[in-house]
Amino acid sequence: MKEPLLLDGKQVSSSIKDELKGQIDVLKKQGITPKLVTILVGDNPSSHTYVQMKANACKRIGMESERIYLKSETTTEELLATIKKLNEDDQVHGILLQHPVPEHIDERQAFDAITLEKDVDGVTSHGFGSTAFQLNAYPCCTPAAIMEMIDYYQIPIEGKHAVVIGRSPILGKPVSMMLLNRNATVTISHSRTENLEEIVKQVDLVVAAVGKPRFVKGEWLKEGAIVLDAGYNQGNIGDCDYDSCYDKASAITPVPGGVGPVTIAMLLRNTVLAAEQKVSMNAMKIV
Ligand code: NAP
Repeated sequence: MKEPLLLDGKQVSSSIKDELKGQIDVLKKQGITPKLVTILVGDNPSSHTYVQMKANACKRIGMESERIYLKSETTTEELLATIKKLNEDDQVHGILLQHPVPEHIDERQAFDAITLEKDVDGVTSHGFGSTAFQLNAYPCCTPAAIMEMIDYYQIPIEGKHAVVIGRSPILGKPVSMMLLNRNATVTISHSRTENLEEIVKQVDLVVAAVGKPRFVKGEWLKEGAIVLDAGYNQGNIGDCDYDSCYDKASAITPVPGGVGPVTIAMLLRNTVLAAEQKVSMNAMKIV
């Protein structure tokens, strides 16, 4: 049996970060340091880890970052006021509201309060619509990471049949639109989908974004399918059963070390692009 190609997220992420370092140097010479602000509401331990990882990643490539911690009892109005202040702050290039927020908060309203120019996590309705219509917006980071891996490893997707398992606003839906925009034939599945196993058996490419450990089994796969596992469950376990999928796939992302590191690189890239965009807008004002 031929071994599958290992889609190495660490390698992809480090090549992106190398490029970004050069762009950051140019910005710094112009007196600008790209700055990302993350907002964390409540005390979800995994969210704390994610926010810390993002701050560390910013620091390592010479970007600035700030973390704003809001207590669990924060109201939607208080959160909206925090976002408004950051929207108006010229020193801030990107805003990330860590998902999930406590249930009493209107998360959609809070996401949509982020101005499109600073929506570096690609979570606003406006950003989603723009991405779907291939207009200017920063793409949602995990879907963009999946597309980046496809491009880095030159995986042909035009005309291929892909199934996306999951339809969340931050992952399943946007990645489905991105694949569609690249001329894949896309089936979107969810918790009410019937005969998922039969659907997966027919497709060339599987994107797992379901949030259930080892959900996709190797025996569901068509021989030689490509497996992109966005899942990240407790114990560093993906949404695909890696060992059995490895035996059937022609290319596969590991978990950890697959989509995750590239997602962070996409966030950094979007923030650097936002800073560059700000510089060119300012230049236009001067002219
Ligand atoms: P989510 O909001 O919980 O969405 C899960 C989706 O899976 C929903 O659309 C749900 O369908 C669907 N689903 C649930 N059970 C199913 C079933 N039996 N068959 C088919 N579909 C089913 O999760 P998410 O935020 O999109 O995250 C998905 C995974 O990606 C998680 O493992 C998460 O940890 C990971 N993730 C990773 C990164 C990264 O940087 N690598 C970033 C974000 C998320 P319904 O819509 O019908 O409920």
